Amino acid sequence: MTSIIDLIGGTPLVEVTRLETGPCRLFLKLESQNPSGSIKDRPARAMIEAAEYDGRLKAGGTVIEATAGNTGLGLAFVGARKGYRTILVVPDKMSREKILHARAMGAEIIVTRSDVGKGHPDYYQDLAADLTARTKGAIYINQFENPANPYAHEQTTAPEILRQMDGDIDAIVVGVGSGGTLTGIGRYMCQYSPKTKMVLADPEGSILAPYVKTGEMRSAGSWAVEGIGEDFIPPNCDLSLVKDAYTIPDRESFATARELMRAEGILGGSSSGTLLAAALRYCREQSEPKRVVTLVCDSGAKYLSKVFNEAYLAQEGFIGARTGKVRDLVSS
Ligand code: PMP
Repeated sequence: MTSIIDLIGGTPLVEVTRLETGPCRLFLKLESQNPSGSIKDRPARAMIEAAEYDGRLKAGGTVIEATAGNTGLGLAFVGARKGYRTILVVPDKMSREKILHARAMGAEIIVTRSDVGKGHPDYYQDLAADLTARTKGAIYINQFENPANPYAHEQTTAPEILRQMDGDIDAIVVGVGSGGTLTGIGRYMCQYSPKTKMVLADPEGSILAPYVKTGEMRSAGSWAVEGIGEDFIPPNCDLSLVKDAYTIPDRESFATARELMRAEGILGGSSSGTLLAAALRYCREQSEPKRVVTLVCDSGAKYLSKVFNEAYLAQEGFIGARTGKVRDLVSS
């Protein structure tokens, strides 16, 4: 019998047909179609099942994670189906929809400060590790280091994409939160499709794209896009796999997410806007036809109060003051 967990993966791939893609064909892997609505369902399942397999997670146990969102939703959903207690430590910039969604799926939420860095006891990862040490029968998932995270993408996401593209892909544009997607897909492509270039889409303020381009570790700024961009290089993130990188301002990410809905009818989240913006730049820069893939990492339904809320966009200065038109996101 099929359980809801068996519906993770096997997501559809669609072609972009109304947006301008230069000489290239651009395809979108709809990870938003996973049961809890994001790309993180795959690693959530893999990390829980790896812990079950090696005996660290026992019946009735507790799963703890530091997460800004989708990993927590995936863990809460897989945990609920398998009968585990799920505790999520989240930084306070996480969208309200995601907190309510995780609570609805039975997770306990601890909100912590987002203005402190690694090594501070209130930093979300340090707090989660400490809580695990104090909770009996608990495991700390730690997606940033857990090898089952990239492995899930190497085993499922990557072969699905290569099959759906009939084995012919020139470039895949990805974002990095934990690095699981990049490292898993990148490793698989090195082995089974070496001509495929991995391209990084990174929010302005993140240290990753500048590091890829210059080899220098700059200090991080801040950004409003959720789920991608980092102020450190996670152990699970193998940046040596990246051949090209784009820095995308929040304004362009939000505008592109809205454009994706308007032109293609696909409701994607803010990180999908970043990935698509980078993919479109990449496609338009090419002089030869290429086959390019990017991901719709999660659904825009999780960002109704942000990306799809004009009052928020105006308040944060993402809408041009002159006309108040959202179209100004791109042109101004
Ligand atoms: N997009 C969104 C919305 C996410 O939540 C995440 C995970 N943080 C990613 C992209 C990036 O995934 P990864 O952790 O595999 O780098």
